Amino acid sequence: MQVAIVTVGDEILAGETVNTNAAWLGERLTERGVTVSRVVTLPDRVDALAHTINEYRAAYDAVLVTGGLGPTHDDLTMEGVAAAVGRDLEASEDALAWLEDHGGYAAEDLAAGTVHLPAGARVLHNEAGVAPGCVIESVYVLPGVPEEMQAMFERIEEEFAGEPRYVESIVTTEPESALLDRFEGVQEAFDVKIGSYPGENVRIRVESDEEREVENAIAWLRERVDLADG
Ligand code: ATP
Ligand code: MG
Repeated sequence: MQVAIVTVGDEILAGETVNTNAAWLGERLTERGVTVSRVVTLPDRVDALAHTINEYRAAYDAVLVTGGLGPTHDDLTMEGVAAAVGRDLEASEDALAWLEDHGGYAAEDLAAGTVHLPAGARVLHNEAGVAPGCVIESVYVLPGVPEEMQAMFERIEEEFAGEPRYVESIVTTEPESALLDRFEGVQEAFDVKIGSYPGENVRIRVESDEEREVENAIAWLRERVDLADG
């Protein structure tokens, strides 16, 4: 399963908000065996949202969108999603009933637009806040506030699944440039993907959909590179 993550907000583009939602979702989805193929941040603009969400829903199995929900003038995400899937926004009876029953809100206390979702969407109730999320076709719309986004994702994460991937890494004292022959050798001998991450020491990351291939490749490397302590 391949997905794209779209985080929405001018404040993320301006560097005022650190995009922890993308990192959190990326890690959770990867753990589930899902391939995160794109992470993109878009401004609070309906045309930009509609364009990119439409492109990504054609290219990937699902698109996860976070941020810009709720009824304030700069919250345009639902409008962008509705435009991407060619639907109107309409008040969701289901979302309203849930907020009345669980949130203790009366309809007249909610700001206009709070429960506006693309027509036909499945509501995702907000256990940790107010603005509901939704699923429309393969587009999942979640809040921007991290605690709200996380609580909502955990209720739908079963819908994201893929082949489990196995990963192990070792750290070497050798410089990256000296390691190229071993990188070639290990990839010839085993069905693995190799990554190398230089820092103080180089970390060699071995990944495969076969646990045994990872174990064997790591053992092969351990015999052939200078290992750092620990
Ligand atoms: P609300 O329902 O409260 O209006 P929202 O879904 O509209 O939430 P935003 O208005 O986009 O979300 O953002 C609310 C707050 O959530 C921001 O001030 C920011 O602190 C945080 N936030 C938004 N997007 C992200 C993100 N990608 N990573 C981390 N924090 C974020
Ligand atoms: Mg908001």
